[in-house]
Amino acid sequence: MHQDLVAISNVWQCDARIDVLKAEHEGLNRAIKEAEAALLAADAALTAAQSALATVKAADRANTRELDDYTKNRRSTQQMIDTGTAPDYAAAQRQVASLSARIDSLENAGLELIEGVERAQEALAAAERTRLQATATLAAATAALKSRDTPIRKELGEILPRREAAWVALDADLKPQYFDQRRKKKRALVLSIDRTCSQCSTFVPPQVYLDVEAGREAHRCTGCGGWLLPT
Ligand SMILES: [Zn+2]
Repeated sequence: MHQDLVAISNVWQCDARIDVLKAEHEGLNRAIKEAEAALLAADAALTAAQSALATVKAADRANTRELDDYTKNRRSTQQMIDTGTAPDYAAAQRQVASLSARIDSLENAGLELIEGVERAQEALAAAERTRLQATATLAAATAALKSRDTPIRKELGEILPRREAAWVALDADLKPQYFDQRRKKKRALVLSIDRTCSQCSTFVPPQVYLDVEAGREAHRCTGCGGWLLPT
């Protein structure tokens, strides 16, 4: 292999590993941030579900109280009719009819409120499960970072000086080219597979291929700028 290619490869191998480690570390941190956001959302949903249940329960209690009042009222009016003590019989009859209509309506509302309470209880149970899950996810994400943080930092601490040494050893003419390749987030080293570049599929001329295979010269792919490796 041509010496330029060896020098580039030494830098590239370090950079590629550094990229992987940094991406892993960022991914672990991102997972924690996402889990924290999910937990906050689950907390808010839980509070809302608790409040919704309290509201519907209060409405149900109020409805029950009103229903009790109307029922008592109808009973006493009916008693006056039955015992002949109503001052105005027709008016008392009309009042019973009117109270009965209101009682029907309150009973129907009561049935809907009972269903509403059940739905709110189910929603609250679901919100509690979601919050529990969010807590577990955050704990797992935190544990994942904790277990990988030190090894990642340690490995980076070992690679960075190696990378520095490889960079110093790299020919000055190649540095801007390599830097440019990194800036474009392209692989620095590519393979020629079936006479085309493995990164961008640009045709690799036969003479270039032969030069690279024989280690006579370092060539860059004319498409993506990657240095061609011998197969
Ligand atoms: Zn290419």
